[in-house]
Amino acid sequence: MSTIISLRTKWTTNITALKIIIGLWFHLTNHKLLSSLPLMRTINDIFPLLDKPVNIAITTHQKPDADAMGSSLGLYNFLIQFDHDVTVISPTNWAIWVNWMPGAKKVIDYELQKQKAEAALDNANWLFCLDFNNFDRAKKLAPKLAALKCLKILIDHHEAPDEQNFDYGVSDTTRSSTCEMIYDFILASGYKDKITTDVAECIYAGVVADTGSFRFPSVSANVHRIVADLKDKGLLHTPVHEALYDNFLENRLRFIGNVLLNRMEIFYEYNTALIAIPKSDLIKYNIKTGDTEGLVNYPMSIQGIKLVALVIDRDEERKWSFRSKGDFDCNAFARKYFEGGGHFYAAGGRSSDSLPETVKRFKQVIKENESQLQ
Ligand code: 5GP
Ligand code: MN
Repeated sequence: MSTIISLRTKWTTNITALKIIIGLWFHLTNHKLLSSLPLMRTINDIFPLLDKPVNIAITTHQKPDADAMGSSLGLYNFLIQFDHDVTVISPTNWAIWVNWMPGAKKVIDYELQKQKAEAALDNANWLFCLDFNNFDRAKKLAPKLAALKCLKILIDHHEAPDEQNFDYGVSDTTRSSTCEMIYDFILASGYKDKITTDVAECIYAGVVADTGSFRFPSVSANVHRIVADLKDKGLLHTPVHEALYDNFLENRLRFIGNVLLNRMEIFYEYNTALIAIPKSDLIKYNIKTGDTEGLVNYPMSIQGIKLVALVIDRDEERKWSFRSKGDFDCNAFARKYFEGGGHFYAAGGRSSDSLPETVKRFKQVIKENESQLQ
């Protein structure tokens, strides 16, 4: 087994080097033919390897949400049934409302347990990267992920994947959620019988969260078929909704009241709403990771609003969330102005400037985008 793994590692290193050369060549020449060459092997190629126990690490983006944690733990609960040694590593802490997910207690927070996380990563034969597609989204964990020599496997639904960083994978922006993709991965692997209720609960949580409870345009018939199948397998969906949405403390509701009353500006000429949250509010209301989740959606309920922007003054950066309707592309907007990205209708970004400077810049750039906001 170890010879196979070391041969595989050598082979992978060569392939990775080749991919970097091809990637560089493409960047230098913008060559049409090369741009259509897949840089990752299809995810189906790993199915024959699934039943040979190895060490597996699973990771996701910073501050994992229900889709990031649900896909990681859905996959974890599937893979442990093959006797793989599986470790889930989060780059940072996460919201307490995902702690109910089966396996959540075993997830390692890289910022709290760096050595333990790095040991698991160094021992890994495979690394799954879920619900993000470039290492920068893993923040301080990014250089470690980039340096690892193991097989790297991507399963993700965001725009613009860094394909040259992955050996195998599937990147599909038409998918509602990474959890939907985990279900399809399991189905295609031929091990549908291993969708236990633990797996089902994790997958369902991510699908619900990333589809805004089945309302966004990304919800296909496939999504509803998946849920029907999970129900057939014994999924109780109400406790999952309650765990995700009825699981906050009083302070969060009072904080939202304050934000909607005092921190929201509407620019009717641009069909845009802006919420800017200063650090003092986060301190006053004792706001923790995950407490601001969903806040960006409130102004979307105002008639005619096409773009909502929420910016939070976090210690390390000003963190943006964008949501849109119609033909306004949040991903392109976040990428162009705020070092971010994501999806067409939901994206995020960042800024190193102060909160007032960041807000000033936003007000300038929505003027530049006036025609798309009509
Ligand atoms: P949220 O506003 O819920 O934090 O993020 C919306 C979507 O954009 C999510 O799919 C999230 O993964 C993605 N996203 C958030 N922040 C960033 C960022 O800084 N860069 C990129 N590429 N994607 C982001
Ligand atoms: Mn997602």
